[in-house]
Amino acid sequence: MAQKMQNERTLVIIKPDGIQRSLMGEIISRYERVGLKLVAMKMVLPTPERATEHYMVGGEEWLETVGEKAAAAYEKKGEKSPYKTYRDNGVAILEANAKYMSAGPVLAMIWEGSHAIPLVRKITGGTEPLGTDVGTIRGDFTLDSYQLADADNRSIRNLIHASGDPEEAKKEIAIWFDEDDIIEYRHIQEQILYDVNMDGILE
Ligand code: GDP
Ligand code: MG
Repeated sequence: MAQKMQNERTLVIIKPDGIQRSLMGEIISRYERVGLKLVAMKMVLPTPERATEHYMVGGEEWLETVGEKAAAAYEKKGEKSPYKTYRDNGVAILEANAKYMSAGPVLAMIWEGSHAIPLVRKITGGTEPLGTDVGTIRGDFTLDSYQLADADNRSIRNLIHASGDPEEAKKEIAIWFDEDDIIEYRHIQEQILYDVNMDGILE
C-alpha cells in the first residue's frame, strides 16, 4: 500500500523572477534534499495562452474563489474592492498571473514521492512571501506582498508555482508535459526512505 503513495506527483514551476534572481539551483536543492525524486524537467518560454490555460485548470470556480479571497483582503484593509463582482476580480488576477508567468523563461518540473503535493507546498510556503514563514522558499528568498503587488496592479511575485491538490496536479502536468517526457527510474535513496527493512529488498 505504501508503495503506491510513493508515486504521488506534483508540478513545480520556477517562475520568471526565480530564473532572473538566479535561484534555480537553490530552489531545486530544497525539494531534492527532502527526499523527493525529479522525474521531468523542462525550460519553457510560456505563451500567454499556455499560462492562461494553466491558471484556468480550476475553471470558473477558481475565478470566483480567488476573486472572493482578494475582495476579502480589500475589506480587511478597510478599502472597497474596485471590481463589481468576485469573478471580475478573479479575471483581473488571472490576467496578471498570465502576464507574470509568460514574462520570460520558466523551469517546469515534476517531483515524485510520498506526500509530494503537500510536502512541496510546505517547503514552498504560502502565496504571499511577506506573510509566510522563514525557512520556506518564498519566505527566505523574496520580499513581495499583496500591498506592493496591488499598488502596481500586478501579480504577486512569489518565485514558484506548486500544485495544490491531486486533481490540480494531474491537469497541470498534462499542460506542461507529454507522457514520454516523464522518466520512471529507481532512485537509490528509496532504499532508505521507503524500504521496510532497509535491506535493499522492496517489499
Ligand atoms: P498559490 O497556489 O499559493 O500560488 O496561490 P493560488 O493558487 O491561490 O493563486 C495563484 C496565484 O494567484 C498566486 O500565486 C498569486 O499570484 C495570485 N493570487 C492569489 N490570490 C490572490 C489575491 O488575493 N490577490 C492577488 N492580487 N493575487 C492573488
Ligand atoms: Mg495554486
